Amino acid sequence: MGLYQRCRRLRFPGLYACGLHTATVPTPPHWLVERLGHFEELWTAQVKRLASMAQKEQRTIKISLPGGQKVDAVAWKTTPYQLAQQISSNLADTAVAAQVNGEPYDLERPLETDSDLRFLTFDSAQGKAVFWHSSTHVLGAAAEQLLGAVLCQGPSTECGFYHDFFLGKGRTIKGSELPVLERICQELAAAAQPFRRLEASRAQLRQLFKDNPFKLRLIEEKVTGPTATVYGCGMLVDLCRGPHLRHTGQIGGLKLLSNSSSVWRFPGAPETLQRVSGISFPTAEELRAWEEWKEEAESRDHRRIGKEQELFFFHELSPGSCFFLPRGTRVYNALVAFIRAEYTRRDFSEVKTPTLFSSKLWELSGHWEHYREDMFALQPPGPDRPCSSQSEHSARHPADTLALKPMNCPAHCLMFAHRPRSWRELPLRLADFGALHRAEASGSLGGLTRLRCFQQDDAHIFCAPDQLEAEIQGCLDFLRSVYTILGFSFHMALSTRPSGFLGEPCLWDQAEQVLQQALEEFGAPWDLNPGDGAFYGPKIDVHVRDALGRPHQCGTIQLDFQLPLRFDLQYKGQSGALERPVLIHRAVLGSVERMLGVLAESCGGKWPLWLSPFQVVVIPVGMEQEEYAREAQQSLRAAGLVGDLDADSGLTLSRRIRRAQLAHYNFQFVVGQREQSKRTVNIRTRDNRRLGERDLAEAIQRLLELQDTRVPNAEEIF
Ligand SMILES: [Zn+2]
Ligand SMILES: [Zn+2]
Repeated sequence: MGLYQRCRRLRFPGLYACGLHTATVPTPPHWLVERLGHFEELWTAQVKRLASMAQKEQRTIKISLPGGQKVDAVAWKTTPYQLAQQISSNLADTAVAAQVNGEPYDLERPLETDSDLRFLTFDSAQGKAVFWHSSTHVLGAAAEQLLGAVLCQGPSTECGFYHDFFLGKGRTIKGSELPVLERICQELAAAAQPFRRLEASRAQLRQLFKDNPFKLRLIEEKVTGPTATVYGCGMLVDLCRGPHLRHTGQIGGLKLLSNSSSVWRFPGAPETLQRVSGISFPTAEELRAWEEWKEEAESRDHRRIGKEQELFFFHELSPGSCFFLPRGTRVYNALVAFIRAEYTRRDFSEVKTPTLFSSKLWELSGHWEHYREDMFALQPPGPDRPCSSQSEHSARHPADTLALKPMNCPAHCLMFAHRPRSWRELPLRLADFGALHRAEASGSLGGLTRLRCFQQDDAHIFCAPDQLEAEIQGCLDFLRSVYTILGFSFHMALSTRPSGFLGEPCLWDQAEQVLQQALEEFGAPWDLNPGDGAFYGPKIDVHVRDALGRPHQCGTIQLDFQLPLRFDLQYKGQSGALERPVLIHRAVLGSVERMLGVLAESCGGKWPLWLSPFQVVVIPVGMEQEEYAREAQQSLRAAGLVGDLDADSGLTLSRRIRRAQLAHYNFQFVVGQREQSKRTVNIRTRDNRRLGERDLAEAIQRLLELQDTRVPNAEEIF
């Protein structure tokens, strides 16, 4: 029997029709009742089994609590929740799950052996995952009861959760059904139904989920041991590893956000599933605060700001590449100029390298083997007779496939190797803003976040092993100065060798130690991500937080032991012998395009003066001052500032001032008769502060100072 027929048999046509008009949980279909009955039987047996095990063993176990304190507990009886209560009622109330010997664990699940116990709250990423994962069960239960849905899978995501389910062939969920579904979810949450963890054998699992072809498939594919866990919660019984909240009442605020379709990808006929996504919080207040935050974030979407401020656009004739309009280019160039100024100060040498390289280079660098799918490759025109097919071409010209560079490192290695090098030249810091191309899938493209063509503030440092630590510290200092100017706080993570790393373990040891020491001395907070490094070397990833507190991964510092080997890079050491340099890849902004998007959202289109494409607008009071206003505009432009003119005599002065402020011009220079005769300007800021009358030349001078020092608040300190 196909999935479709099976599911149609399950559906309860009358159920959702009547359910739509009422928010009370409808009478459940009979198969839900049947499944629950079966669960209850197994549950009762498990409760008895556990009680007798606790009784029989009477075993005391040692539990080490978060503060380091050790307490006694009874095996198969004491739960993490009971211990949380002993610590504090606040902890017991806010804990969402436990962590036992590092593994996530239900708060109500009895402890079995000596354990190191921790508690997860909503504040941590792991706690949020448990919270949202539990919430998606509530959504699943509501979908079963209201829509007769056949549940598929419902994971937590980085920001919330979703649930995929099947409603029958051709039946899709409508946006108008979400509010009803949401109200049922809220009712189920308010009912504070406990999550009950049950261990079941494969045979019991198959019996429990006999009416759900998706779960049966998952049992076949995913359950490898003799048993697996299912969780009961209200009417819902679901196959799940857990852990979950103690009960649904811990969900104080829940909102469903969107509906779409998705595809069930197991072999056989793909089924179109319905996907509903949502988010939830421990309290209704937190949900409200999130909604406000989200509204603010949406109003700051960089694609919207890019359109409104005429910074950039996209065109279907060049998918995934951005057209920067004059104002956007101004911001772009200001960012690049900022980094260039830092390069001069920090002794980096800027270079330019080709975009198109023979596949031989990519074979040497290893990209052809590991990264080919993500590269744009092309064939040069054939000599005499054109090749009729790709395979004929490869046969006739095996070596002349060309590819657009996805990164600059191999080119910089060629540059290092193009003549003999001496230790006196090290460290050699090569910086390159060259355009990079990556074959991103069309579905993943969106705004400036992911592009097929972009530039990075990319640099590669070739240094002697004993220069490594100083170079890493230099990189960290570089990051700090740039992010401070951009107004970002940042956090670093050191990723160490993964399984399958290449190179000498002792080299890795040394390098990891150097990175760790550099981080310690730098003094900013950092985390250790063991096993998360690249196969070619350990790395420091830098996450910045923008003005809305959103994280972005921008900068990176990566050591590379492999490329110097692959390119056989050498320099003449102090002793005269040839030595191998160490390579550091590093970027601060990362993709300049992406950083421009992040900054647009972070400032909400109110650019700081030094980046601003709207620095000054000159506004003449009347027609008689237009000529002087034009002169003032010319002086601004001659000084290299953005000077616009609003001489629209159809609008009153106050309307034009208002218009300039809405466009976020940092400053407005208003010129009337008096200003004209004295060659002054009357200055206002975009926050409508009146700075009064200033000499035009002096005002321009002051703007240049503020621009050059890249202050974030030029309007306040003018
Ligand atoms: Zn679950
Ligand atoms: Zn690189």
